[in-house]
Amino acid sequence: MPRKFVLAAAVAVPVAALAAVPLRQIPGGAALQRSQASWAPLRGLAARWPQPGSHARRTVELESLSWGLPARGRLINGAELSAEGPHWRSIRTEVGRIYGTSELVDGLRWAAERLRVMDPETPMLAVGDLSAEGGGRAPRHRSHQNGRDADLNFFWTDAAERPVFSERMTSFDAKGRGDYAGRPVRFDARRNWSLVAGLLTNPHFGRRVRWIFVSRGLRALLLKEAAAAGAAPDLVARAAKALAQPPGSSHRNHFHLRIACSAEDLRLGCRD
Ligand SMILES: [Zn+2]
Repeated sequence: MPRKFVLAAAVAVPVAALAAVPLRQIPGGAALQRSQASWAPLRGLAARWPQPGSHARRTVELESLSWGLPARGRLINGAELSAEGPHWRSIRTEVGRIYGTSELVDGLRWAAERLRVMDPETPMLAVGDLSAEGGGRAPRHRSHQNGRDADLNFFWTDAAERPVFSERMTSFDAKGRGDYAGRPVRFDARRNWSLVAGLLTNPHFGRRVRWIFVSRGLRALLLKEAAAAGAAPDLVARAAKALAQPPGSSHRNHFHLRIACSAEDLRLGCRD
């Protein structure tokens, strides 16, 4: 559910004075304080507050704000991906990095549901880290700081080609061969391609997928699968652009999804 919250502002508060007001005294500010907002994003928010001088009472709706850079940023009023939903499961709930922008969380739910509507045999989507509540440093990651990154486990099958759900990640070579609990498993190119297609076409962030990091070899398997499945050329072209192996990191055991700033967040300090 998008975490809408409403900042109801008494308009007599001069915008410039906002920075001097403790967060807890601003209506709705407690939520911002909980999310460890620094003042910089608030300066952006202040621009949307009612202008001083007007005596009407106005309401500013704010969903989430991804502020700063993925490797140095914050997440304000982030949406929470529940630990388990009908079509997904968070696999590292102990670290609590289950927060993202509302569009990231909505889009992941959408993509997970689409996979299972298209093919009920598909296991739940196993979701790794998003961002911490409020964002900021995420140990073991360079990014994941402002709600626009998500790690997603691959789908894979056992020797009998049955889908396997796993809360653990496992690595696959360029031919899609892996090993799980001492047994050979295969990268499920069909379902993994379907996931990539769902990420690229979902109505929440599909057009703003910036990267889907994955190893070079698995990328080739996915694009081959896309061609075999008769995917639309435009979609394949977008997938070819988004799927990439980043320098210095193999990504042989999970996808890392990065979405770009929304137009709204860009105006408020989000940086790609
Ligand atoms: Zn990641």
